[in-house]
Amino acid sequence: MSHTALAALRDGRLVRAISLLASTAMAAWLAPSAGNAAPLQVAMMQGAQPCVALTFDDGPDADLTPKLLSILESKGVNATFFVVGFRAQNAPDPVARANRDGDEIGNHSWDHPVLPSLASDAVVRELTRTDDVIQKIIGHMPAYSRAPYGSMSTRVAGLTSRTFVAWNVDTLDWRYPDVARITSTAVNKAVNGSIILMHDVHPRTIDSVPGVVDGLRARGFKLVTISELLGGDCGGHAIGFDLPGEGPIGMPAKTPLVSSVSPKAAPATAAPQPPVQQASSRPPFKLYGDDDN
Ligand SMILES: [Zn+2]
Repeated sequence: MSHTALAALRDGRLVRAISLLASTAMAAWLAPSAGNAAPLQVAMMQGAQPCVALTFDDGPDADLTPKLLSILESKGVNATFFVVGFRAQNAPDPVARANRDGDEIGNHSWDHPVLPSLASDAVVRELTRTDDVIQKIIGHMPAYSRAPYGSMSTRVAGLTSRTFVAWNVDTLDWRYPDVARITSTAVNKAVNGSIILMHDVHPRTIDSVPGVVDGLRARGFKLVTISELLGGDCGGHAIGFDLPGEGPIGMPAKTPLVSSVSPKAAPATAAPQPPVQQASSRPPFKLYGDDDN
């Protein structure tokens, strides 16, 4: 949690607080993991060959996800879908189809809470309940998980044995539903081993995918799933992503900080969720009838 952002919220400057948090998240720590210490969340594969992974969060959407799957199929591309458990339960067909198509299905919690704000048993339920519905639909457990909002803590990371996957390219498609902007962000910010964040619950995101795929290929990138990227198909080594406030866990003390705010040590216990994080985190996820985009 950024104290500056919190102060901005208390002053009623919500938009500024949201922008600040988003920008600090974009300027997250990126550092090699120390020896055998795994990063709290994987952001990308440093030193990889020219491979990138497209990831789509917050679905499935009964209308948009099938459209996206058809685009991916026509392009001969496989992506990774971090699905929300209750949405997968309500719309299992796109999840089953994605799996049949060779796309990867990951766990994005049951109903998209800020995991560090929950008690430990509730966190475990969020994750295992989603594992179960995914297994029921596709016949096997998801290999990877993604924390809602990328919000993570050492406590949450230690509750189950799983790899959390963040990203190092955020298209901000939920905030700027503009095909040209989404496309140029995804294509131009990608580097070897990048993990690109998009959401298959926004129409303009779906519209941008053909251009994203073509643009990345024109730059020489191969598009791979998270399992292919993290499994070593493209070489490189995993480096971490930790939001300001969480601390560069499992990384060298001399980890360079690339952030506009000072890091603050986060309590390892289940602290009450600061309101700013909830507020700033709401826009990407259209679960409660938000009509922002
Ligand atoms: Zn999400």
